[in-house]
Amino acid sequence: MSDAMTAVAPSEPRAAVPCPRRASVGVRVGKVLVGGGAPVVVQSMTNTDTEDAAATAKQVAELARAGSELVRITVNTPSAAAAVPHIFERLDMMGVAVPVVGDFHYNGHQLLAQEPACARLLAKYRINPGNVGFGAKHDSQFAKIIEIALREDKPVRIGANWGSLDQALLTTLMDENARRAEPWDAGAVAREALLRSALDSAAYAETLGMARDRIILSCKVSGVQELIAVYRDLAARCDYALHLGLTEAGMGSKGIVASTAALAVLLQEGIGDTIRISLTPEPGAPRTGEVIVAQELLQTMGLRAFSPLVTACPGCGRTTSEFFQVLAKTVQEHVREQMPLWRVQYDGVENLTLAVMGCVVNGPGESKHANIGISLPGNGETPVAPVFIDGRKAMTLRGERIAEEFVGILDDYVARKFAARAG
Ligand code: SF4
Repeated sequence: MSDAMTAVAPSEPRAAVPCPRRASVGVRVGKVLVGGGAPVVVQSMTNTDTEDAAATAKQVAELARAGSELVRITVNTPSAAAAVPHIFERLDMMGVAVPVVGDFHYNGHQLLAQEPACARLLAKYRINPGNVGFGAKHDSQFAKIIEIALREDKPVRIGANWGSLDQALLTTLMDENARRAEPWDAGAVAREALLRSALDSAAYAETLGMARDRIILSCKVSGVQELIAVYRDLAARCDYALHLGLTEAGMGSKGIVASTAALAVLLQEGIGDTIRISLTPEPGAPRTGEVIVAQELLQTMGLRAFSPLVTACPGCGRTTSEFFQVLAKTVQEHVREQMPLWRVQYDGVENLTLAVMGCVVNGPGESKHANIGISLPGNGETPVAPVFIDGRKAMTLRGERIAEEFVGILDDYVARKFAARAG
């Protein structure tokens, strides 16, 4: 028996396993609703120099086309703020209407005041309460950003981060802790400082006139257990919409596993209204990897559907050659390439399920659970590949062109089964 035995047919039991969401106040960011019962929103962030409007617009478009529903850009210098209208012009020309969020640190109050077009075009402002200003300037600079957000009718994310914790607040809480009969450990004090930084800033924003349905909170840390502890506490102490993400998750499988481990626990508890996977891309790799991981996380948990799911067995000693791996990859890549078009043309195609299986042990069974499945011949089996459509054996493929023929069957099925959208 292989671990393919444990693969769950995606169309079957997920609906029977409820995953209630935490009640949160919905926040409209451009055309996208975050929280308030809306599906969990996928977002991402560019890594281009924002001053380079062409490169930034290109990457925003790539992220949006990959499925990012919000895209954040750094706005760190006067030139970057001045580039924002040019980025929007280019996005308009490309037909990309994704809400773009501005990420501000240290000088956001100045940049937003100096570049009204930047303030007007961005869909949301991210404020880091740990570096919005220091000492006596903290509150006034924070208030200046809120004032502009109110004038422009923009929501804000108050995003505290472990790496830029409000040191004045941390010192105050450490002093308070030292006076406790039974002091907390240092980690608990730091977590409390992170939470208080976000919650106190949100409360201050409300006193300045910002409504609760214009505030999203985040408290990011880089450790899995810390993130889970912080967000459980945050979720219990407020009903603001929450942006969820493991900061500085890392590269490759480490970053994916760490983000997934932390976010899956919280999402399963209903915590998190929008997610970002903070992956460090491999050199030369597209930035869109973080969007795909976020979508796959939500889809494999049954929280959203973005793209047809391909169930593939891992292969084992019964699998013949690498042909099986090539077929699984071909089908996965074909689906990914077609989705931008299919999404527009075919209603509900994201719910399609596929199975690519390596032998007769689990192949026919798993294939019958999918909309379309193929079971390749294993070692010693008759060299034919039965194809199952909607649970019934529909045909048998043989010869050298099994991959091409299966992809053709898939395309025909999609065109036939999913109604064309009007217009
Ligand atoms: S080749 Fe057959 S036995 Fe091996 S993992 Fe795939 S379905 Fe299971």
